[in-house]
Amino acid sequence: MTLANPGPGGRFGEFGGRFVPETLVPACVELEEAFTQAWVDPVFQTELGTLLSEYAGRPSPVTECPTLSEELGLRLLLKREDLNHTGSHKINNVLGQGLLARRMGRKRLLAETGAGQHGVATATAAALLGMDCCVYMGEVDVRRQELNVFRMRLLGAEVRTATSGSRTLKDAINEAMRDWVATVESSYYCLGSVMGPHPYPLMVRTFQEVIGTEARQQCQDLLGGVPDVVCASVGGGSNAIGIFSGFADSDSELVGVEPAGGAAVGRGVPGVVHGSTSYLMQDEFGQVLEAESISAGLDYPGVGPEHSYLAATGRARYESVTDTEVVEAFQLLSRTEGIIPALEPAHALAWVSRERNALSGRSVLLNLSGRGDKDVGQMMEILA
Ligand SMILES: *Cc1c(COP(=O)(O)O)cnc(C)c1O
Repeated sequence: MTLANPGPGGRFGEFGGRFVPETLVPACVELEEAFTQAWVDPVFQTELGTLLSEYAGRPSPVTECPTLSEELGLRLLLKREDLNHTGSHKINNVLGQGLLARRMGRKRLLAETGAGQHGVATATAAALLGMDCCVYMGEVDVRRQELNVFRMRLLGAEVRTATSGSRTLKDAINEAMRDWVATVESSYYCLGSVMGPHPYPLMVRTFQEVIGTEARQQCQDLLGGVPDVVCASVGGGSNAIGIFSGFADSDSELVGVEPAGGAAVGRGVPGVVHGSTSYLMQDEFGQVLEAESISAGLDYPGVGPEHSYLAATGRARYESVTDTEVVEAFQLLSRTEGIIPALEPAHALAWVSRERNALSGRSVLLNLSGRGDKDVGQMMEILA
């Protein structure tokens, strides 16, 4: 772990904090204490370590890309989170929070989901740990992602449709938080990214640090040091912070890549949403704007507070790419390396591909946060 911990109240500089209804303050405090104790408890560490290796399939490899590297004129390395059980990095977080919920005596996992990936991951953890699961999903997303809705039900979860507002992810989060207020004694709110009120951004980061810790060692073995550049796609920011955490104390450049239609860091201004202060896309009246991107998993108008802090301090920079560039990158990796990426990490590859001249001859570690199976139907329509 090479990133600094937040200050009092969960502040990363001016960002973060805990802006929740009064009824949720004790729940956040209880969670912070439970997490802090669990993390230093060898019993918890052993339980989590065993699940990560024997259930999720960690460690994930780092793969060289000889053909694509040659084509781009740089040395591309992929951290293969796509090879995890359920197909992305999200499993790292839900196994950690699921074990924590059980330790806290909770019997029900609550979650929100956009594209359905975090919902499926949470439903998976609930099935594994013998807990009830309720997932909130916007009505629009329920229609767009019927396969993931079916998966969640197959895994034994209840899917509740959020019909307020724009009926997408931010509304699902609002309704999940409302449920949490009403059921705080029995339910555990399993947040899907490094956002929300303290301690979630710190806790989710901690559960995703395994990506960076593994990658640092793997790069040491492959490169004899750290890569010149470490890049990842940014929705809420959990896969990016996970891999950044392994390199923040090094000379590696850290680059987060957002969709042009959801560039919270690039186009946002500081505001409070879903429990913390961060960069946020909003109109002149402070209304939260809709994010729009080809990838439902990055369709979020905000970003985790620590990314706002890393951007403000200059330790990481944030770039954006267009949907067209993403579609090209999706095909490029499939064709050259036989790896069909999820649309989210295709954003990071789109940036690498566009910047190939500036990156010429350099080593680039890209967090391949998920596999593309979930996106092939959509791509089939786009490419038809
Ligand atoms: C959910 C998801 C993301 C975006 O979430 P972050 O918290 O920003 O990591 C990125 N990649 C994949 C494969 C996802 O499923």
